[in-house]
Amino acid sequence: AKLKPDATTTMTCGFCSTGCGLNIHLRDGQAVNLSPATEYPVNLGMACPKGWEALNVLDAPDRATTPLLRGADGRLSPTSWDTAMSTFCDRMQAIQRQHGPESVAFLSTGQMPTEEQALLGALAKFGMGMVHGDGNTRQCMATAATAYKQSFGYDAPPFTYQDFEESDVIVLVGSNLCIAHPIMWERVLRNRNRPKIIVIDPRSTETAMAASKHLPLKPKGDLALFYAIAHVLARQGWIDRDFLDAHTTGYDGFAQHLQAYAPNAVAARTGIAPALVEEVADVIHRGERVSFWWTMGVNQSYEGTRVAQSLINLALMTGNIGRPGTGANSITGQANAMGSRLFSNTTCLYGGRDFENRADREHVAGVLGIDGARIPTQNSLPYHQILERVRAGKIRGLWFICTNPAHSWSQQADARALLKSLDFLAVQDMYHSADTAALADLVLPAAGWGEKEGTFINSERRLGVIKKVKQAPGEALSDFSIFRLIADRWGCGEMLSEWSSPEAAFEILKRLSVGTPCDFSGIENYLHLDRNGGIQWPCPAPAEGVAGQRRLFEDGRFYHADGRARFLFDPPTDMPEPPDRDYPYLLLTGRGTASQWHTQTRTSKSAVLRKLYPAGVYVEVNPGDARREGVRPQQRVWVASRRGRVAATAYVTPTIRPGQLFMPMHYPETNRLTLSHFDPHSHQPSYKDCAVRIEAI
Ligand code: SF4
Repeated sequence: AKLKPDATTTMTCGFCSTGCGLNIHLRDGQAVNLSPATEYPVNLGMACPKGWEALNVLDAPDRATTPLLRGADGRLSPTSWDTAMSTFCDRMQAIQRQHGPESVAFLSTGQMPTEEQALLGALAKFGMGMVHGDGNTRQCMATAATAYKQSFGYDAPPFTYQDFEESDVIVLVGSNLCIAHPIMWERVLRNRNRPKIIVIDPRSTETAMAASKHLPLKPKGDLALFYAIAHVLARQGWIDRDFLDAHTTGYDGFAQHLQAYAPNAVAARTGIAPALVEEVADVIHRGERVSFWWTMGVNQSYEGTRVAQSLINLALMTGNIGRPGTGANSITGQANAMGSRLFSNTTCLYGGRDFENRADREHVAGVLGIDGARIPTQNSLPYHQILERVRAGKIRGLWFICTNPAHSWSQQADARALLKSLDFLAVQDMYHSADTAALADLVLPAAGWGEKEGTFINSERRLGVIKKVKQAPGEALSDFSIFRLIADRWGCGEMLSEWSSPEAAFEILKRLSVGTPCDFSGIENYLHLDRNGGIQWPCPAPAEGVAGQRRLFEDGRFYHADGRARFLFDPPTDMPEPPDRDYPYLLLTGRGTASQWHTQTRTSKSAVLRKLYPAGVYVEVNPGDARREGVRPQQRVWVASRRGRVAATAYVTPTIRPGQLFMPMHYPETNRLTLSHFDPHSHQPSYKDCAVRIEAI
């Protein structure tokens, strides 16, 4: 009877970017259980295992409950918030005094509410004088954001989830939607048009097995493949000339570029038979409503921006954008990757503005009522260049918030060595056991989803609320409160006084969004979001009962000054570390299950989720390769790259092609093998191509 709820409230899930609504059942205002929301427009009464377990992971015994400070004995010991704040500010300020303001930086997340990310951006950049700060969205969505910005003039995913249900052709690229975004996959299954589903992925994933057609392309054959499909469309005249003339620029140059990409000319590179390329082009041509969807198989690539744009180009040349069931659609990873992309002051100044643009700086200073001179005049370095500055001894203090790079960053031994070389490493996290927290000089205990308020923006641009339905353990505080404490101790609390609560920050964000494509100033408050099941941007005017689902570009007008979308393209480049005699296999990495999230910091705390997934790291091996290497199913093996060697259990399966291995990203071992290399436009790490060898232990 004690657990019998007396009220229910709805909030958005805090794991992935689907942004499902969860009904939280309360007793005396505290969460006792949850169930998927049936009325929320996103998830239609469903949740994946992570969502079902979202409350349980909050009760883990390794929650950080008090600040921890590393003492002279080298151990982390509990300390007071007062000492933690003075240590944080004294050490960061001392570094800045000695080495200049650019010698400290922050690295944050797409997992915090937008209000917290925005306050952090104001505190770090306008208050503490930092120039450099980035988010782990660099590992996730930077490529899509860059591709959209260059092609459309703004980081604007055009779709709405309803498009999954309205397409008659669905092209999924580098996306195992079945397990990575299972609720979106349910939308595909609900599609009543009997859609053709084309999956383009080197692996025979769960999604590929359910597809009408699976193209098991060679890794990094994607750019050439999409140019070959475009070549056929152009050659056959299967283009939408009216749309091209009215709404795009650069098609003629693109058509010329395509001449070199006849399907037979690139078959060796793509591994796809020319007849199959012709067939796929024909399916796209015959489709009335064709949608192109991609995720990390595209984004986490050394040429991902151009690959994403090759999909955008396909949508543009066939006029498949701005209509129901169409679009060039990037599916985001983290719950609030989009909030981070638009309002964290990392990759851009608030609202997609530019730090290097004086008018943008003056506008933001005016909205915030601060001295414009406090706003840095240069954009931040991207994540990997911040780490390179650490290597060069120019950045000596780092502050990680809600992210775990000691597990998630590529070439892990190198990343860890860089973190250990810092003069001061502060980590703000829910769990003191997180890999990065274990390396810290100071751990600041943070409240998590369910223990604080704010808004997330999901993949389809929908703002949804999260609420405080549980008390954070011990002395853990919301990230918002920690930022406010730091601001006061640093001496910039007065400047940030208007940021007094998440809802006050939301009001500031509404003002900052005015005049940008993501204007959401028409949203009144959290209650308004609650009443409507979240609201998609743009929402510039007061809107009650706004349409549940809305897409962009229905008027054919894009965000470049001329209103046109651009065709952007480059020839494919070679992978920097192809397999060779010493390391004859190519290692692919990715999500391995619907039941674990990224580095398992939270999801490993659920007994249910642990049961749904192997506890130890495994590697998928093709049966022919296993025979050749003398590896039996379930045998322990060494997997080695030029950067390290890890022990894993061999899963022998035909779902992985000969010459390739697959390891999930959820295990810390995986990134001991990966190679640090990056897309030149988005600076996103390329996690899915490094040479390895395998041998039985
Ligand atoms: Fe929905 Fe993603 Fe949460 Fe699962 S993790 S319930 S798919 S938002």
